[in-house]
Amino acid sequence: MITGKNYIGNQLSAKGSTTYKTFNPQLNIENETVFIEATSEEIKEAVQLASEAFIAFRNVSGVKKAAFLNAIADEILVLGEALIKTYCKESGLPEGRAIGERGRTVGQLQSFAKLLLEGSWVEATIDTAQPNREPQPKPDLRKLLVPLGPVVVFGASNFPLAFSTAGGDTAAALAAGCPVIVKSHPMHSGTGELVASAILQAAKKTGMPNGVFSNLNSSGIEVGSQLVKHPGVKAVGFTGSIKGGRALYDLAAKREEPIPVFAEMGSINPVVILPEALKNRGKALAKTYAGSITVGTGQFCTNPGLLLAIKSEALSSFIQELSNEIVKVEPSCMLHPNIVEAYENKKEKAVAQSGITVTAAYTTKVNANYARQTITTVEGQTFLENQSLHQEVFGPYSIVVQCANAKQLERIISKLEGQLTATVIADNQEASTYPEVIAALQNRVGRLIFNGVPTGVEVCAAMTHGGPYPASTDSRFTAIGIHSIKRWVRPFSYQDWPNALLPEALKNENPLSINRVIDGQQTRDQIK
Ligand code: NAP
Repeated sequence: MITGKNYIGNQLSAKGSTTYKTFNPQLNIENETVFIEATSEEIKEAVQLASEAFIAFRNVSGVKKAAFLNAIADEILVLGEALIKTYCKESGLPEGRAIGERGRTVGQLQSFAKLLLEGSWVEATIDTAQPNREPQPKPDLRKLLVPLGPVVVFGASNFPLAFSTAGGDTAAALAAGCPVIVKSHPMHSGTGELVASAILQAAKKTGMPNGVFSNLNSSGIEVGSQLVKHPGVKAVGFTGSIKGGRALYDLAAKREEPIPVFAEMGSINPVVILPEALKNRGKALAKTYAGSITVGTGQFCTNPGLLLAIKSEALSSFIQELSNEIVKVEPSCMLHPNIVEAYENKKEKAVAQSGITVTAAYTTKVNANYARQTITTVEGQTFLENQSLHQEVFGPYSIVVQCANAKQLERIISKLEGQLTATVIADNQEASTYPEVIAALQNRVGRLIFNGVPTGVEVCAAMTHGGPYPASTDSRFTAIGIHSIKRWVRPFSYQDWPNALLPEALKNENPLSINRVIDGQQTRDQIK
């Protein structure tokens, strides 16, 4: 049952007087539940409880944490229809997407559980002592990764499950041994509360300390700001706009003790279509890209918002074909009236720029909160000179840039802000004849795709979902896949520490049987 209250650890709490409701964009009406925003007192209680829980939770074994994560996955599935229905009511997204995203969320939790059971992720590194070394003896040093402390996770509007309450950030932080306080997204607080109840049920069943997880409601920026400023919070995970992510990053940097903010923000995901490919299969590419631009109503951080190619007849035909194809796609519902409004405003601003031609715009009347997909085109030089055209228009919008030549294409790429992805569409050997273009792309993005589309992010160990700023605030880390756990840990060394007092991962006898680096060698051996 959805109560509209906050979870401060295991306790439901509603001390505040600020209330709000979520919105059903398909029906264009408010949903019934009244949510109560967390007060300053409740924020402090949640952080205090998380700090206390950390003392025990940081030492919980990998096996027990894995049981906790697997139990969360199970409890999410137990929520059944109620979760799927609430998700759809609060997002306007179809049931198939809800079920798919639930599967992804459950899969993410289970993949971290697997990582914990295997155990080598702590990167145990041992340099044994050399008491007889000259001129000075070498001490025994043993290093591993340890959790940072309580983490605040901001739920994302566009992934109510996979990037929200029990999404990738939460799963990774809990796996690392960090208690989590979720700042629930106001667009899907009911979905958030249901998932929070599943996490707490799992915590109880697997004996986790109270405070290992809290879920706080908010309808404005105040709750999130207070959380980020609280001295008990040690790191932040965020997915959303550049404005929001940057504001939180700056707040965290201004604290007496600055803390890391791992924000995954905007990206226009350039797609470079090389001449041969454009000539040989422009028609098929137009159809594929009409699909990729409009999938999920364009509300994906990997949406292809920028198509780049060298001017030719084939490019003119492609623009025409893409424009024809995109208006054939039925418009679909956006997540919230605010998102539709932001889309329409940003689009309006983009098409008003000088040199922009709208080649496809869905002109027929659409339902309230439905988005009209749009394609525009511009000359390479105009794009180069107008930075505002490089900004994300979150929704089913893409701009095709007609570059004068390969040199200009390369210049444009090197002037782009950091991006999550770039895609190269090429035929035969032509990719190898544009080394500067490929090198320029590699320098700007976190993931390069060959002959595909950027939408659809595989969750696996080799995935990089991040990139140079402003795609993310720290390009050294991924937000997706098991390596995202590294955002929530720090390296820690023991020097000459007695074997009996060392954590299991560093003991001579290697009781966890994990991979370690001992005196420069990868091994599962014991130290005799
Ligand atoms: P948002 O405005 O960035 O907000 C995300 C979360 O951060 C919300 O919970 C918001 O709190 C909080 N927040 C924002 N600014 C804050 C600040 N200055 N201080 C403290 N907390 C702050 O994103 P959104 O609401 O999800 O969507 C709005 C726009 O973000 C979209 O139209 C789109 O442009 C962009 N977006 C991009 C991506 C992407 O992957 N690239 C994904 C989602 C959204 P409150 O809501 O409580 O105010």
